[in-house]
Amino acid sequence: MRYAAFTVDVDRDANLAERGRYDAGSKAITGVDTLPRFASSGEGLRILSELLEDLGIRATFFLEGDALRDIARHADVRSLLQKHEVACHGICHEDFTGESTGICLTGEQVGQVASESRSIVRDVIGRVPTGFRAPYQHIDDIGLGALAKVGFSYDSSKTEKMNDGKIAPKELDSGLFEVPLACGKDGHGKKIVSYLWPMHEGKRSADDYVELASSFQSGYLVLATHSWHLTETFKSGPLDRAQATLQVEMTRKVLEGMLDQGIRFLPIEDQLGGQ
Ligand SMILES: [Zn+2]
Repeated sequence: MRYAAFTVDVDRDANLAERGRYDAGSKAITGVDTLPRFASSGEGLRILSELLEDLGIRATFFLEGDALRDIARHADVRSLLQKHEVACHGICHEDFTGESTGICLTGEQVGQVASESRSIVRDVIGRVPTGFRAPYQHIDDIGLGALAKVGFSYDSSKTEKMNDGKIAPKELDSGLFEVPLACGKDGHGKKIVSYLWPMHEGKRSADDYVELASSFQSGYLVLATHSWHLTETFKSGPLDRAQATLQVEMTRKVLEGMLDQGIRFLPIEDQLGGQ
């Protein structure tokens, strides 16, 4: 049996890092207003929850604190996420390593952000998360050490190369598991990462990801997307109904293509619990 995770980052719409700014904004729809927005993220969460229910897939949702609080004001997030694993994605989409903002957080600061984001998820959802994905997937050994220190079981921020069809979680010296995304080849031998971003932005087809999955032989394949990408693209902004339907259908095609290959989806904490 081959196992995979479908993971969803629920964060501010079309998140945008800015130099010298600690928190992230959202790409301006018109003009220069980059204040964070959450409407697409909330709507995408509702759409994905329906799609996953239809396909019988349990997923892992990495929830940004600010996004979760905002979405919870308009929707019953406990119910939308009831069957799925909830995990953390920072509070205001902090860039831990400072790669995009120029503001690097210390280990102590990463630990504070991580434990506070866990409290937000616990308070809103009523369950204690064990997993973390760093905003922008930016994390280094200091950040990983901080996650272990404040009691997280795993991180899923890194991307690793799939070797001979194999990719799997790895236990670090600290006891924290790294559950990486995969980098492999598409049907044309071109590099592809298991993040659906290029598909939503019109640069890749659903078939490319089904092809990546078909080269996966053993371990645990982690797919990732953003909830806002179901109703908005970074390039064009919020989508009309027909365009949004296309995003859902492409996502469905990837997931159905994997199910048809006999791949079984399990939330990350279930997969690690079975090891
Ligand atoms: Zn994010």
